[in-house]
Amino acid sequence: MKPVILILGGGTGGLMTAHFLRKKLGSHCRIIVFEKEEKNVFAPSLLWLMVGKRKTKDVYRSTKQVVRKGIELVLGNIEKVNPENKLVQVNGKAYKGDYLIVSLGAAQQEVPALSKKGFDFFSLDGAAGFYDALQHFHGGKIAVLISSLPFKCPAAPYEAAMLIESAIRKRGLRDKTEIAVYSPETMPMPVAGKALADAVKQMLENKGIKYFPEHQYTQADYGSLTFSNGNSFSYDLLAYTPKHICPNVIAEGPLTGKSSWIETDRNTLETNFSNVYAIGDITFIPLELGKPLPKAGVFAHYQAEVVANNIAEKINGGSKMKTFDGSGQCFLEMGDGKAGYAGGNFYGSPLPLVKMKKPGYWWHLTKVMFEKYWFFKYF
Ligand SMILES: Cc1cc2nc3c(=O)[nH]c(=O)nc-3n(C[C@H](O)[C@H](O)[C@H](O)COP(=O)(O)OP(=O)(O)OC[C@H]3O[C@@H](n4cnc5c(N)ncnc54)[C@H](O)[C@@H]3O)c2cc1C
Repeated sequence: MKPVILILGGGTGGLMTAHFLRKKLGSHCRIIVFEKEEKNVFAPSLLWLMVGKRKTKDVYRSTKQVVRKGIELVLGNIEKVNPENKLVQVNGKAYKGDYLIVSLGAAQQEVPALSKKGFDFFSLDGAAGFYDALQHFHGGKIAVLISSLPFKCPAAPYEAAMLIESAIRKRGLRDKTEIAVYSPETMPMPVAGKALADAVKQMLENKGIKYFPEHQYTQADYGSLTFSNGNSFSYDLLAYTPKHICPNVIAEGPLTGKSSWIETDRNTLETNFSNVYAIGDITFIPLELGKPLPKAGVFAHYQAEVVANNIAEKINGGSKMKTFDGSGQCFLEMGDGKAGYAGGNFYGSPLPLVKMKKPGYWWHLTKVMFEKYWFFKYF
């Protein structure tokens, strides 16, 4: 009998794991991907969608297209996961595996008070809705709000603010528009260190974007935000990050730890259950500085590579195991066809060692090329 590998979630980590496994094992195993969404969105493109650089149809593909020779798809909501027996239940049907990889990401919850007059730009509808509203905007105050921690892609809100600034300037509305970012964090992308945070703050300042750190939103009325420090600000247009939680199907089970996320071995990504792995946004990996590894696709990518390699080695009886070393990079869209690029080792001791390269057109082009490659390779 061929070994059966169950991959929970067909997002960044899940898709990559499936492809790495298929490349390594060919037809020597069954790879089954479970995914609930029919539209498979490339999340980084949502930022371009919200300023009209992409249309909705450009930023997703049909999940059904992930099927390949050697990769099976079960489209449906995962209802139960039993890590002990490696059992997954979808649409009332049970699937048994020899290996289980949980890559279910962070579930994004709407914030009702904010959605009345704002847009969750981490969703397809929210990003598209923001662009519609932007077209009818003729000056005033635009707020980009990090509504709570944690949130995925620590750079995204800052990228959104800079892209909005560029779009507004091109429409001749800059003099009539104030743009501000509100965040509960002490500085932008704090895990990457002070030097990077200072560089991002400088970028915002150069573009006249106001930045309000240590602002935890507590209440929203129609057109105004109140924060836990007592400050209140009005806005005419709002883009916000949703609440991020561990998906219920996992949160309710034995895989989660004290953090309410899955706590794996930081190098092998194996959970407390043998041959059950977790990768990407659903994991909680503490770093020496006391904060967890950020939630970003790049980590899901490298973790997928490690897990796929190690499962293939186990199946083939090999011993060339790999470990995830905490490396990661990210692009920082700045508008006007430019981007920054930062990368390093987040497992650095005592602090992550992350450096930023000189921003320019090249990094933006590289991000665009990665988007094209993603759709070409996986769909
Ligand atoms: C606007 C934005 C921009 C971003 N830009 C970047 C960037 O430039 N670089 C970067 O590294 N990261 C970026 N990210 C973050 C990146 O998208 C995530 O970190 C990455 O997708 C995490 O991969 P994952 O596999 O853990 O989760 P996901 O990609 O979220 O995949 C999880 C999948 O599981 C499915 N699922 C969940 N529950 C169930 C269930 N019960 N049944 C069936 N299926 C289920 C979901 O539908 C989803 O498809 C960005 C995110 C956003 C929102």
